[in-house]
Amino acid sequence: MKEQTAPQKSWIEIPEGSDFPMQNLPYGIFRTVSNPAARACTIVGESIVDLAVLDELSYFDELDLPAGIFRKRYLNDFMALGKEKTRAFRQLLMRLLGEDRKDVRSQAWHFLHPIEKVELLLPVKVGDYTDFYSSIEHATNVGKMFRDPENALLPNWRHMPVGYHGRASSIVVSGTPVRRPRGQMMPAGANQPVFGPSRLLDFELEMGFVIGQGNEMGVAISTAEAEQHIFGLMLFNDWSARDIQKWEYVPLGPFLGKNFASSVSPWIVTLEALEPFRVEGPVQEPSVLPYLQFEGKRNYDIQLEVEIVAESGASKVVSRSNFKYMYWNMCQQLAHHTINGCNMRVGDICASGTISGPDPGSYGSMLEITWRGTKPVQMPDGSERKFLQDGDTVVMRGFAEKDGLRIGFGEVSGKVLPAEE
Ligand code: CA
Repeated sequence: MKEQTAPQKSWIEIPEGSDFPMQNLPYGIFRTVSNPAARACTIVGESIVDLAVLDELSYFDELDLPAGIFRKRYLNDFMALGKEKTRAFRQLLMRLLGEDRKDVRSQAWHFLHPIEKVELLLPVKVGDYTDFYSSIEHATNVGKMFRDPENALLPNWRHMPVGYHGRASSIVVSGTPVRRPRGQMMPAGANQPVFGPSRLLDFELEMGFVIGQGNEMGVAISTAEAEQHIFGLMLFNDWSARDIQKWEYVPLGPFLGKNFASSVSPWIVTLEALEPFRVEGPVQEPSVLPYLQFEGKRNYDIQLEVEIVAESGASKVVSRSNFKYMYWNMCQQLAHHTINGCNMRVGDICASGTISGPDPGSYGSMLEITWRGTKPVQMPDGSERKFLQDGDTVVMRGFAEKDGLRIGFGEVSGKVLPAEE
């Protein structure tokens, strides 16, 4: 489908530089104080559009959608309608919210809410969550620090998008505070583990894609088919406790150093909205096995940043990265995930792994930014950070921009609370 790149007008006001022009139309779930029932929405400018009410006003009748599809706690049933239906819905929504629909505008008081008057909820019932490790800069940095500076990448890394199965139960929406985890750690030079709050709490700047259509167990998804199964993307913070992780991860990989929390942005931005921002990915050398080969541009130019806001209010952007740096793209990740017959289900999330760029200003974790704490970040209030402190809020933002069109993700934020007593 060809997407327009010139910003499209709407009868809804859209401030200059908004993440949410008419061509974005991401999906979320919201509620209000006066109506606490969760329902589906989109956003234009700074206005929340209640899709359940528009549906009940018969504006979507031509699509013959299942009754009550937007009056649900999660978007899973809507995503499961499949791309043909959800693309047609997107086109209809663009027409209804376009500048010439005075009839729809006259009923706006039924279905439009200012963003500050709503609560945005976790939009997906997450079934399974997988985290990849697909940024070559990140994998190289971590390999240099923890293994061998000369041979930072493990032998399998350029042959497959490696990943691990994470935990869905602790995925939370932006704004949810995160408690510093406690656990076992082996201090440097010690011969007995200690127990206590993690001292090396970190973020990981990632993006996650949401599965809108599953596959039958035993039947793989090819790289060519993958985009039919990917509904859209979210910002993703994979909170990580480096000291717990370092002691536990051999031989089975990440466990309690990771599964205490992951935060996602409230909006799912569709692949259709991101269409104008496709780019080539890095050259893959050596060439990959046939099941991982793909055609076309499968990376996306999405600018990302991470800001730390201290309890004092002092803040600093500590990273500016880009989703286009991913060595392994989403189609390859999904093809690899299912090549053994593993079945994906609607609502599953696959996260990219930390997205680091080539220079230190683009590293996607404190581990890399401060190089294991050896190069602390100076905050404007005079304090310094090697890792995260209690009271720090981590804010990640992302947007794609080209020819005057900006498609944004909003933000994912989370405040670090002190560990349990
Ligand atoms: Ca991760």
